[in-house]
Amino acid sequence: MSAAQDIPGAEARVPHSVVVVGASHAGVQLADRLRATGYTGEITLISHETHLPYQRPPLSKAWLKGEATGESVLLREPAHYADQKIELMTGARVEELERTPDGVEVRFTLAGAVRTRRFDRLVLATGARARRLALPGADHPDVLVLRDLDHARSLAGRVEAGPMVVVGGGFVGLEVAATARALGAEVTVVEAGERLLARAVGPDTAETLLAAHRAMATEVVLGVAPAEIVHGDSGILAVRLADGREIPAATVLVGIGAQARIELAGQLGLECDGGIVVDERCLASDGWTLAVGDCTTHVSGSGGRFRLESVDNAVEQANTAAAVLLGLPLPDRGAPWFWSDQGDQKLQITGLIGGHTSMLVRMDPERPRRRVALYFADDALIAAECLNSPADFVALRSALGRGQRPGPEALSDTRVPLKKLLAPARG
Ligand SMILES: Cc1cc2nc3c(=O)[nH]c(=O)nc-3n(C[C@H](O)[C@H](O)[C@H](O)COP(=O)(O)OP(=O)(O)OC[C@H]3O[C@@H](n4cnc5c(N)ncnc54)[C@H](O)[C@@H]3O)c2cc1C
Repeated sequence: MSAAQDIPGAEARVPHSVVVVGASHAGVQLADRLRATGYTGEITLISHETHLPYQRPPLSKAWLKGEATGESVLLREPAHYADQKIELMTGARVEELERTPDGVEVRFTLAGAVRTRRFDRLVLATGARARRLALPGADHPDVLVLRDLDHARSLAGRVEAGPMVVVGGGFVGLEVAATARALGAEVTVVEAGERLLARAVGPDTAETLLAAHRAMATEVVLGVAPAEIVHGDSGILAVRLADGREIPAATVLVGIGAQARIELAGQLGLECDGGIVVDERCLASDGWTLAVGDCTTHVSGSGGRFRLESVDNAVEQANTAAAVLLGLPLPDRGAPWFWSDQGDQKLQITGLIGGHTSMLVRMDPERPRRRVALYFADDALIAAECLNSPADFVALRSALGRGQRPGPEALSDTRVPLKKLLAPARG
């Protein structure tokens, strides 16, 4: 809990105008939270994309399957921004930022013209861009990435073009692989590491998902990196692997992670370390600029740094930043969470598994699709991965959110549902 006057470098006064660079999950939530908290000053959202702000998670799932439309993925109704007196500029790219004695000067291009405006406070919500493959042939137009709606449109147009090779066994790659398989495509996933999702989940969950993808008849190649995208006049022919194997391909989807967009932060001299370094108040190293969402790197209580790329993090940081701008107490933040739908596998994660010292897997032989991996640090629960177990996920997320940290013995009896084992103490 802290008030604005306690924050080094932050003005005690509420700003008359706030500019947010980036209008996606984090930027839009910030604008809405400011309004919901009673802020009556100017809010300007500047978005490089030409679309109204939309949700990214469906792009690799429902949208790709044709079960969502440009309209159904919108983050807010089109009239919302005007109704809330939020100035939304789409198709506008911020090129330069300069601190002034009383705020920030923003130079941006809109419809080919360069414009400059001044604002009292600045929030960076610039997100991330998809990492590209640096390989011979990887500049071919049928080598695609998936980060935005235009990418999703290109990818959807390629599902029926022939075999697809997905490079990278992370969340986006595996979601696309499962969706493309469901649509009948021949799919191979190539992952250079020894297992899937190595940065995101523990080995047990990764193994279970590997088996699920293989059961969907997706070819999964582990432990070999791609070396070249082989193409001819008719398009892509194959992906050549480092061990010489060639996998036929008409389309290559590169899902090897995302890089935070930190160029504007760099102009302001803000400390960056794979993302804009922010503290728990979302303040960057100058103690004045706020940054939220995928563009940030967090400093943890122990001084370590970590990045969270999730809708939950974008929303929670936006809520925090709004409170800081208005000098209000910081909102309580629940346990971090994330979800991923891969075919009929629903993965839900809560907490952070880094630093765990032991783990326990809960399974019910009568419901073999359900599986919960629990992670403990010094016998205290810190995180959980739930496959096809939404009720367990809800119980675990709530428990972690209220600071309940049971040890493995308390959660090992699989005959008793987690909801019961984790029920808050009465009185
Ligand atoms: C295919 C896909 C599936 C996903 N699935 C899930 C999921 O299942 N669950 C989950 O929790 N998360 C998922 N995510 C991650 C989630 O979408 C991100 O964590 C979230 O989008 C982060 O929001 P953000 O606002 O921080 O950044 P972004 O969504 O990256 O948005 C940043 C915006 O800022 C704009 N911008 C950047 N620089 C400038 C500039 N100079 N001028 C103007 N505008 C600028 C960009 O164009 C962009 O529109 C998925 C992501 C992808 C790509």
